[in-house]
Amino acid sequence: MNQPTARDTWHARAADRISAGIDGRLLIDGHRYHAVDGRCFDCVSPLDGKVIARVARGQAADVDLAVASARAAFADGRWSARSPAARKKVLLAFAERIRAAREELALLETLDMGKPIAAALSADVPGTARCIQWYAEAVDKVYGEIAPTGRDALALVSREPVGVVGAIVPWNYPLLMTSWKLGPALAAGNSVVLKPSERSPLSALRLAELALEAGLPEGVFNVVPGFGAEAGEALALHMDVDAIGFTGSTRTGRRMLEYAGRSNLKRVFNELGGKSANIVFADFEDLDRAAATAAGAMFYNQGESCNAPSRLLVQDSIADAFVERLAALAPGYAPGDPLDPTTRLGALVDAQQTATVMEYIQSGLQQGARCVAGGEQVLQDTGGQFVAPTVFDGVDNTMRIAREEIFGPVLSVIRFSTEQEALRIANDSSYGLHAAVWTRGLDRAVRVSRALHAGTVHVNEYDEDDITVPFGGVKQSGNGRDKSLHALDKYSELKTTWMRIDPA
Ligand code: NAD
Repeated sequence: MNQPTARDTWHARAADRISAGIDGRLLIDGHRYHAVDGRCFDCVSPLDGKVIARVARGQAADVDLAVASARAAFADGRWSARSPAARKKVLLAFAERIRAAREELALLETLDMGKPIAAALSADVPGTARCIQWYAEAVDKVYGEIAPTGRDALALVSREPVGVVGAIVPWNYPLLMTSWKLGPALAAGNSVVLKPSERSPLSALRLAELALEAGLPEGVFNVVPGFGAEAGEALALHMDVDAIGFTGSTRTGRRMLEYAGRSNLKRVFNELGGKSANIVFADFEDLDRAAATAAGAMFYNQGESCNAPSRLLVQDSIADAFVERLAALAPGYAPGDPLDPTTRLGALVDAQQTATVMEYIQSGLQQGARCVAGGEQVLQDTGGQFVAPTVFDGVDNTMRIAREEIFGPVLSVIRFSTEQEALRIANDSSYGLHAAVWTRGLDRAVRVSRALHAGTVHVNEYDEDDITVPFGGVKQSGNGRDKSLHALDKYSELKTTWMRIDPA
């Protein structure tokens, strides 16, 4: 008899996990509950179109309970009044629990939103644990200030938690995006109510259980799954939520600002979409490396990354050779079974996303771009959602596939002749998340990175990323910065205390 393959093993684990029942109930005040009105929605796996769980469909009444629980926890100081060193201890234990549950969390993530199990195991889960650990370790090293006043007074500037933080996150990196809000918010002493995406609610619920197991007090981290227009809106409009950490589309980010204006003027931090420009100049001679990085970064996570380098700007003289390499590389990212550890490109999150991506591919063709790789839906017999990695050449920056975020494995190649033209095209976008420049000229590297209107600029690479540096955009890519010590600013208030010093 043949030995089971690693793929067989993951399928067997998936079958066991689903048949054991995945708990889709809310987590409020440390306990699992059905929604107040008892409603649920189906959680459908994009691997095969099958229902893998029934998830509570949170509404305003559930959000009220979650916010009340978070507020009570904040007010009685069970977390907020603990010393930074004490919070650190619990958060370090939380990070360890996440590491210990690596395979279970990775499996939930893959089943729920379709990313390859290898990526979930090697990037999403360890990245989540590292984020929580990093903020745990940071929080007892952040000092307040003593202002340089005269001798007759003492002015202290201290950091205080903001209170109840609402976190609303998308489905493309469900665990990671949650950790980017949760790590700094909890470390700073806040209570959190999380609304995961209705397209990927499962891992967040498990994460909250792990936090409880690690010793996070009940009520400090609550999870209300549900739809954006229901639970999401109720959370963002809530009068007793002090800040919203939002990651998602620009369309919804706009609403977050409206909700704040219509309610209590809560702080809103938006991490939104992107259409990042990756500029390759002819003086960068290693076309193989530049092309491999362009393809790898574009097709990672099925192209469902906010910072995907989805506009590739290539200088005329090398454009043919570059596009040839991209077309040759694309089949290496052919979609496969996400539970097979050798798969590099998995399933799109759901049928709606496949339809969106296919509609953009049609629009590219209709507007005159030339499809040199992919362009079709594949593996339909699986019942899952798979689109071949697609490369368009001859794209003009006015086409929809150059202006709008597709959020799928579709790369648009735009040719340019001069540095000025490249910069004009790169900055001609409503987004400003990431950008890259490939050149051997130091002057050009500095000049172009300075002129690119983006939150992050890469020079001769696109892969670097770390919890130590801020992540976020300019223009309609948002205003928040996740990660790094700067994220603590979002979840803490600066308080000034003046003291009069009488002369002796
Ligand atoms: P989305 O805006 O549709 O949804 C994001 C979250 O907002 C979900 O939890 C959703 O339920 C909720 N939501 C939707 N409508 C709402 C409403 N009316 N009121 C309140 N909440 C609402 O985005 P998505 O499709 O889940 O995610 C993809 C987007 O996220 C892309 O645009 C991507 O670029 C962006 N993103 C940005 C970053 C970043 O750091 N800048 C990171 C990852 C993803």
